[in-house]
Amino acid sequence: MSAHVTHEKMKHPHGDKLCRPMHKLELIKQGLSWPGKQRTLHVSRVPLVFREPYVATGYRPPDKPWSYYLVSVCELHNESVNVWTHLLAFVAVLAQLYRLSGRVHLTQHKDAQTLIGFSVGCLLNTLLSAAAHLLHSKSAWWHYVWFLIDYAGVTYYSFATVLGCVYVSSHPLVYSVIEPCVLPINIALSSFGFLTCCLAKLRFSDPYQPQRQRLMVAGLGVQALVGASPVLARFVHCLHDDHCSLSSLNHISVVFLLLAVCAVTFSAHLPEKLWVGQFDLFGQGHQIFHVVSMVTMVMELEGMYIDIKNGAAQHTSPDLKKMLAAYLVLVIIHVAILVSLKGHIQNKVNDVLEHIKDE
Ligand SMILES: [Zn+2]
Repeated sequence: MSAHVTHEKMKHPHGDKLCRPMHKLELIKQGLSWPGKQRTLHVSRVPLVFREPYVATGYRPPDKPWSYYLVSVCELHNESVNVWTHLLAFVAVLAQLYRLSGRVHLTQHKDAQTLIGFSVGCLLNTLLSAAAHLLHSKSAWWHYVWFLIDYAGVTYYSFATVLGCVYVSSHPLVYSVIEPCVLPINIALSSFGFLTCCLAKLRFSDPYQPQRQRLMVAGLGVQALVGASPVLARFVHCLHDDHCSLSSLNHISVVFLLLAVCAVTFSAHLPEKLWVGQFDLFGQGHQIFHVVSMVTMVMELEGMYIDIKNGAAQHTSPDLKKMLAAYLVLVIIHVAILVSLKGHIQNKVNDVLEHIKDE
């Protein structure tokens, strides 16, 4: 696939703005790289499939060797901060788990199994996301494959969040009802969320179509609502209990608020939507989403610790081996979905190549 695509009219109202002749500042930004000398491209010189909404510069060219993209982890381009924020999140989750291990014995305390089970989902999510942002520019085929893998990572995180909601922060009565089938239901919801994200990515190839992100948020939102219900029952119970103060649940409210901020920052494309081209390297909405998701993971672990310390998890019986087995089943289902979508991915790639030939 040729990277030398001539100026193409964007389908978005900001298209003309993105494809206007480059100013001096943009030319400097294009050539900006640190510490190496990797050149990056203006949006008008990369195929539509690689374009990020409202991001005008800093694109790495496709069709380079894998080593080029691996080395670009140390270069400055429009994916650098996305890669590093989730690598940082990987370390932050490990550091938080290590910090909590000083308070909850990781091998002896029953609830430590949930802390570990939750952390596994976070670590998979951040690692796969960093890899996807680093390597997706290789070709149209790999762009689709890596971002579908990234979505798999997102659903490992949502799977992990439900584990925390059920095995640590749930209302005892709701827990007793759902406990026998919680892992199969969680696997089914994560698989549904993954399939929805995959179909959204393959159905809406134009990155400017807002339906794509909305469909992804809706697919994952179903799991969030079902998964949060055992915790929401505690809020309902507290409202009807004269001896309970809602402030005693502040550690959970903060996490719910952060999860809502994650959904908004993921889909809003702010602030770059308002000032196109001004946040190409630093400050994109997706970078803010990565930072908020990192804070959310750390706060979820903190919230679980508070519930464990206060005895809110006494009624649960977590089993780390079963959680890890469930992750394995989820991975197998994800691989099966990816393999079954191979033909759709190839069709999308053919469309992209056809589109480039027409230009
Ligand atoms: Zn991301």
